[in-house]
Amino acid sequence: MRWTGFYLFTTREVPKDAEVVSHRLMIRAGMTRRVAAGIYNYLPLGWRSLAKLMTIVRRELEVAGCVELSMPAVQPAELWRESGRWSRYGKELLRIRDRHERDFCFGPTHEEVITDQVRHDVKSYRQLPLNLYQIQTKFRDEIRPRFGLMRGREFLMKDAYSFHADVASLDETYEVMGQAYERIFEACQLDFIRVEADSGAIGGSHSHEFMVVAGTGESVVVRCGSCDYAANQERAEAVLSPPRDAESAERPEPEALEDVDTPNQKTVEDVATFLDVSPSQIVKTLIYETDKGLVAVAVRGDREINDVKLGNFLDVEWLEMAGEARVREATGAPVGFAGPVGLGEDIRLIGDYSVRQSVNFVCGANRADGHNRGVNWGRDATPESWVDLLLVEDGDPCPRCGKRLQLSRGIEVGHIFQLGTKYSEPMKCVFSDKEGNSHAMPMGCYGLGIGRTIAAAIEQNHDDKGIIWPLPLAPFEVLVAPLQVDDPEVASTAERIYRELLEKGVDALYDDRDERPGVKFKDADLIGFPLRVVVGSKSLAQGHVEVSMRRGGERQSVAVERAVVHILDLLTVG
Ligand SMILES: [Zn+2]
Repeated sequence: MRWTGFYLFTTREVPKDAEVVSHRLMIRAGMTRRVAAGIYNYLPLGWRSLAKLMTIVRRELEVAGCVELSMPAVQPAELWRESGRWSRYGKELLRIRDRHERDFCFGPTHEEVITDQVRHDVKSYRQLPLNLYQIQTKFRDEIRPRFGLMRGREFLMKDAYSFHADVASLDETYEVMGQAYERIFEACQLDFIRVEADSGAIGGSHSHEFMVVAGTGESVVVRCGSCDYAANQERAEAVLSPPRDAESAERPEPEALEDVDTPNQKTVEDVATFLDVSPSQIVKTLIYETDKGLVAVAVRGDREINDVKLGNFLDVEWLEMAGEARVREATGAPVGFAGPVGLGEDIRLIGDYSVRQSVNFVCGANRADGHNRGVNWGRDATPESWVDLLLVEDGDPCPRCGKRLQLSRGIEVGHIFQLGTKYSEPMKCVFSDKEGNSHAMPMGCYGLGIGRTIAAAIEQNHDDKGIIWPLPLAPFEVLVAPLQVDDPEVASTAERIYRELLEKGVDALYDDRDERPGVKFKDADLIGFPLRVVVGSKSLAQGHVEVSMRRGGERQSVAVERAVVHILDLLTVG
């Protein structure tokens, strides 16, 4: 491809809303352009990277026994009413109406459509298992679309759905798909981790996420340095060593419950200092408002609650920390003085495991400027359940091996789920078994963000000059850049190298623009071609061209006749 014949315009102008580096670099490199908030043109350069990723994805899914099809972007409301999601799915579902006043939506996901298709064709266990996928455009009406392709409203996604006659078969396919995902991200040469994940709104029993490791990632990942335990922080299990009191063979005698004045001592640190106890001896009581009413959660004073775990345990649609007025109403005290002792009947009390062993502890007294000390579970207050609700922190013990956990950041690029019969049951996607009995099909679903993976690749691989593509995702592998296009010797040498590379099947771009060398170098760094061949009149007079690598910046002077072989060697090494 010749630059002047290709649609490729780099720019210095970056929109104000481009907050993340991948968004800025994709716009500057001329890979994408914003059409509306969260909606982008994939320009030819960007499309080449996306296409390369799609080729890798298709190749590995085929190996995994997945079959490609394509489903419509616009979906009828009836199917969504059958699954119950028409009313449950929030405003992210773009609902539209046609000229006959019929309701449709622009699909954010395709469980309903695929389940409708499969129930029509598949009737017997003999036709199962099945695993179908598509790479297609989705729409989610995000309230604040930001971060370019990382979180657009319209986006390209690979989504696969599997159907089974039993859970064992689902388990098997789930594992096969997990391995396919690992091969895909390995083939992209990305540093990634597979983590246990929360199933979230799609629901189901079992789920894993694939995270591209990047300091700029939105997700926090918990990893064990000693074993292979890894989980999204939203879901990571907490194992806290019990407080010192509980470790000793003899539990201390329960002290008398005391009500002490703690004027203006609102934070855990304030109270700890004021009463001369450690923050871990304080039981913090957090009041949450949910769609099922008020909930108080008791947790160790120096730790935080994981809202996702809490929401899952309570099985609520939403929850948030109660505001000042609600806290006052519920506890009779301002924020900072809530406690489990004598809480009202209309508020549920849940205890986090971190305080289950606590004895003679300190907590709020449900009155302004007052705390209780010498509090003991059972005698003074009793949570209705003990649950792990803790937000895991750096250095906490691993739930598998007990060694230290580390936190790191990642970008979620893939998510696989076991859905069970969440869709097949309400939508009556059933099959007959050997005995002729009818069952709903257990299902799995497997998503992979195409644009998001490209953006994540850039987040992980860039410097202040621009993108440093992993070779498999680079829009072009090699840039051939003659420095003086009007010098016939330079032009013909560059042209010859370019043609030979094409003949060898190398993906090369020929920078035939009549631009200053500085402009060509800047653009080359910005776009991030893994290899660059520079043909300049000075070195050509010595019979040399310059070959350089974007990653590491290594440059070599190579004899003209060796140039192509040298590049081919570098490309095979990767
Ligand atoms: Zn471990």
